[in-house]
Amino acid sequence: MSSEADMREEICRWGRSLFERGLTTGPTGNLSARLEDGAVLATPTNVCLGFLDPARLSKLSAGGALISGDPPTRETPMHFAFYRMRSHARGVVHLHSTYATLLSCSADADESNAIAPITPYSVMRLGRVAIVPYARPGSAELGTFVAERAGVHSAMLLANHGLIVCGNSFEGAAFAAEELEESAKLAVIGRGLPLRHLSAEAVEEL
Ligand SMILES: [Zn+2]
Repeated sequence: MSSEADMREEICRWGRSLFERGLTTGPTGNLSARLEDGAVLATPTNVCLGFLDPARLSKLSAGGALISGDPPTRETPMHFAFYRMRSHARGVVHLHSTYATLLSCSADADESNAIAPITPYSVMRLGRVAIVPYARPGSAELGTFVAERAGVHSAMLLANHGLIVCGNSFEGAAFAAEELEESAKLAVIGRGLPLRHLSAEAVEEL
């Protein structure tokens, strides 16, 4: 299990990696990790994930009060929605990555299963991806919408906004975010192609 110092480094390393691969731009997207004692480390408001300082990450109590560091991202209600609803959640990643955001704007997506099962990996890592109705970024309402789905879904597309995922480790959440972006890319590029979907039995087996 990581110490707080290791987790601070891990968040910054992942932020830089996500930024350098174009999965986040400018001061968008945010990351958080829940520590063993229940406190949460989150990326500060209005910072670029590519240039995070481990010492300035926001440290929040389990109730969301700022303990130390810079003021947190305004999107903390969504992160805490996952931590409240999933006792094993240890990391949350939210990005405005291109294909996930494009798919989140789709007018005809299935809101309880936005990514059709065409590869085993997306089924294993993401399960069924929910679509969360639009609400203003950072609003308590958006946090409520995420909380309403977090008991069943660990991966979601926020309508007209981006993606959010949680994992049982911070790294697991980061991997899930990458998988969701790649799955959204396949879904968008594959539109109109005669795709073979995994059978219901194959999905069940996974
Ligand atoms: Zn956002």
